[in-house]
Formats: sequence, C-alpha cells, structure tokens
Amino acid sequence: MLASRVLLRTRITSSRHLSTRAATILNALDLSTNTEIPGVYDGTWGGSGDLLESKCPTTGEVLGRVRTASPKELHEALDKTRGACRYIRSVPAPKRGEILRQVREALATKRDELGALVSLEMGKIKTEGQGEVQEFVDICDYGVGLSRMMNGRVVASERPGHSILEVANPLGVVSVLTAFNFPVAVYGWNFALSLAAGNATIWKPSETTPLCAVAVTKIIAQVLENNGIPGAVSALVTGDKYIGEAITESKDVDLVSFTGSEHVGRIVGKTVQSRFGKVLLELGGNNASIIMPDADMNLALPAVFFGAVGTAGQRCTSTRRLYLHSSIADEFLTKLQKLYSSVRVGDPLTASTLLGPLHTSKGVSTYAAAIDHLRSIGADILTGGEKYLNSPLDKGNFVQPTIAIPKSLNTTDKIWRTETFAPVLNVGIFDELEQAIEWNNNVPQGLSSSLWTRDIRNVGKWIGPAGSDAGIVNINVGTSGAEIGAAFGGNKSTGWGRESGGDAWKQYVRWSACTINFSDAAPLAQGVDFSVDA
Ligand code: NAD
Repeated sequence: MLASRVLLRTRITSSRHLSTRAATILNALDLSTNTEIPGVYDGTWGGSGDLLESKCPTTGEVLGRVRTASPKELHEALDKTRGACRYIRSVPAPKRGEILRQVREALATKRDELGALVSLEMGKIKTEGQGEVQEFVDICDYGVGLSRMMNGRVVASERPGHSILEVANPLGVVSVLTAFNFPVAVYGWNFALSLAAGNATIWKPSETTPLCAVAVTKIIAQVLENNGIPGAVSALVTGDKYIGEAITESKDVDLVSFTGSEHVGRIVGKTVQSRFGKVLLELGGNNASIIMPDADMNLALPAVFFGAVGTAGQRCTSTRRLYLHSSIADEFLTKLQKLYSSVRVGDPLTASTLLGPLHTSKGVSTYAAAIDHLRSIGADILTGGEKYLNSPLDKGNFVQPTIAIPKSLNTTDKIWRTETFAPVLNVGIFDELEQAIEWNNNVPQGLSSSLWTRDIRNVGKWIGPAGSDAGIVNINVGTSGAEIGAAFGGNKSTGWGRESGGDAWKQYVRWSACTINFSDAAPLAQGVDFSVDA
C-alpha cells in the first residue's frame, strides 16, 4: 500500500529565490541552498522518495527541498539500524556516555546556528530556538551521567544460597516520531536516553521540519564517524505519515516513541499494541492556570502571558485555560490585556520579537475555526481574534493572540475540551478552589497545570489525591516549559508517557528477573515439594 501510494504522488518542482536571511543560516549548518537535500541517513546519506518542501512560516519562502525515504530505503534503514543495535549494545555504557559527551560538545558549538534554524523553519522566537538546542545539550549531559547509573537491583531471595537480580539490557531499535513544534529537543530527549541504554535509534521527524532533522543528524553523524561507530546508531528517515505508519507497523522496531497529536497518537498506540510492541506516547495538552486571590500578581501575570502567547501557543504545555478567582478577575484581565497589547510581533529571528508566526497555514485555519466557534457560542472576545493583515506580516502565518470568555463553563463544550494549537486563551471565573480543580481535571487531556497561591493549604489540595490529575502539577510556576531533570509527560489522553529525566530511561531497556543459585541444593519457592522417593 505504501509503495503504490508513493508512486502515485506528484513531484514538487516550483522554483525559488532564497533570501540572504535564510541562506546564511543554511550555509552555517552545511545545508545546500541550491540542490536537493538527501533526507535519509543510515551510515550514508541518500533518499529517492518524494520531495518535501520546507516552507518558512514567516515569509512563505521555500527554504529547502528534502528528498525523503522510498519504502525500500526505509526498510534498508531499518535493517541497518538493527545491525547497529547489535554493535552498540556491546559497547560498555560509560563508553556510550563518552559518545554522548562528544555529541553534546558538537551541538553546543552549533547552538546559535541550530537555534536560528529552528526559528527559521518552525517559527519560534530566537531565544526559544536556542533554548531548544540547549535542552538537547542538557539531556546529553544527563545521559552521560546516566551511562554510569542505570542500575538494576539485588532482591532478597527466600531460598538459601540464592540471589535475585533485576537486570536491564538494551531493547534494540527505538524509533522516534516527532511533532513540528520541538523539531530538535524531542529527538534529543529520546536519543540521549536510548543511546545511554544501548539502543540504536531511527528518527522520523515532522514532514514540515525536515531541515532541522537533517542538520541535527549531520552533527551526530560526524561524532559517530569520528569514533568509528555505525551511523545507523542514529538513523534518519524523513517522510510523511506513510513512513510513520510503516515504522509503527514494523516488527523490527522494539519501542515506538511518538510525540504528536492525540488523534495520531491513538492510531499509533493501537497499531504498536496490536503487535505487542512497546509504545511511549507524548500527546496533546489542554493546560490550565488557576489564580487564587492571594497569588502574587507580579509573578502570575507574566507567566500566564508567556504560557498563552509564547511560541504562538504552539507548545504542548501552552496555557489554554485560565481560571480566575472572582475577587481578582477584573484586575487580572485588565493587566493581562495590557501585556497582550504590548506584544512585539514579527520575524522570530529579530531579537526583540516575542510573537512569531504559526507554523503552517493549516494552523491559521485551526485558529480561525476556534475563533468562529467562540463567536458562534456568544463568547466575549476581549482581544485578538484576527489574522495580522499588514505588511510584512501578511506574508506569514501571523495571528493575533486572543483572550475569550466563553459564556458557558460546561466542560463538555469542545472549546474547553479541545487543544487548539494556537494562541487562544479561554477564561473562566470561580469562587472556590475545589470548583477550579474540577474544571482543571474535567477534560480528556492531562499534561500541565499551574496554581498560583501563597496559601500552603491550597498547595496541599492541589498536589494531593483530590488535586490536579495532570502529569505536571506546578505551584507559582506557569504551565509552559520544563527542565530536563524530572520525567516529562502527561496522563489520560496525553498518553501517560514519560521522557527526559527521572525514571524515564527505564522505558528504553528490557528488564529481566534473574534468580541465581549459588548453593548445592535446588529448593522450590514457597516450600513446594516435588521430590520423588527413590
Ligand atoms: P501530528 O500528530 O500531526 O504529527 C506528529 C508526527 O506523526 C509527524 O512526524 C507525522 O508525520 C507523524 N504521523 C502522522 N500521521 C501518522 C500515522 N498515521 N502514523 C504514524 N505517524 C504519523 O502532530 P503535530 O501537528 O506535528 O504536532 C502538534 C501536536 O504534538 C500537538 O498536539 C502537541 O500538543 C503535541 N506535542 C506533544 C508533546 C508532549 O510532550 N506531550 C510535545 C510536543 C508536541
């Protein structure tokens, strides 16, 4: 099915004139500005499948054309990754850590250039683009330490002269399917843990951010090559959803780590489960901030502003719902609107810009549909609600950050239940914290949540059994953004996955319980007697 579909697809052939703005960044990362870019890496670079066009969300220009994997090339890359995992699993873990340390150094050297590419191709502002590369650097540091700390356990045995060991071994092949909004860091979170754990990793990035994936893979490939390690330890297959489907269905893949929408995550989860593969899902969020009367407004306001407007509302942890206590609601909204009116919108590569474009025109349509729905249900739109139409913003996918007060607080309305991947903040007013916690929880998703209070009793409620049911439960910290040290992920329809720090590494290994008998007898457990009278 994959083969016939790809053959039927037309080739993209339109011509382009690359701006100096784009050419400077691509040149700095060794990405061709005038020829097709190979989008498959498994030790050698290639690709003879369809062409992907990477489009700049700010200007609409075509940044590059990437040749994707054909079905045959995907299977070859999977074979090579399987071979590479046999190699890397025998390399001692601290030696794998040393490779990660070198990857970390190579990435840090290119931090600014790679960060600029993230801004250019994805559309997030400069400081966030660089921050994303820094996240990859940080998780490599973490992986270096981890490579000496992935400990199993020795468990007391009830039988004399016996010991039980819990042993971790590499899984084999880990595939990483990533979303457009973190085109560098999400691969980093997975790759660092996967390599520390002794696996080979194969990456299928979003079809709209292939340049970031090629640039990152080039940096890693150089390190692998310098160390005489098979390139397919970190393989890359660019392509559309059909490549993603083929990976998900492949029995050659031991763990599928998927980051993306709930809709696709549901399909991926079922497919991998149906072949009894391992799956790790990091899906959509619908995150709320709750502001109590005793909150420090000077801290809460900028945090909500960043959470809702930062990355143009395209983080899985973006603040989408704001629950305000009735006693401070008017004041908070007046001040928040003032911040919204001061937002500097424009080219994400300009240092002073705070609001860049949405990543694609499809994102603009999603935004417009959400605004239409808000209008149709009689919501009060306090600010925003339109696309920016003035030049030069009209060339890109720029939309106004929006604050709306829907009439109904009924959490069965889709405006409260759906993740709109755009800067739309819906506001509800409450009188009791318990009510706000109920609204916080009564949605399908469970990624991030944030309570603003100085009252320790509220904190106790919020983090306890009747508190927030999200994977991230913050106090006096916004919903958006996380450090690499703790395990990151969400509950419910966010997929229950955990990546990055904490115990997340345990998902990248297979566990065995090994009972070892050092004695001269072989007793059965629980005193079972199966002896034969001779
Ligand atoms: P998406 O689900 O459209 O695509 C994600 C990836 O899945 C892409 O690589 C795509 O090519 C691939 N894909 C599409 N259909 C597939 C299929 N049938 N089988 C296998 N792969 C398939 O998501 P997106 O629009 O790129 O990203 C935005 C979404 O990602 C948002 O919902 C956001 O919340 C979520 N996200 C979650 C996290 C998290 O950690 N929880 C982090 C970042 C983004």
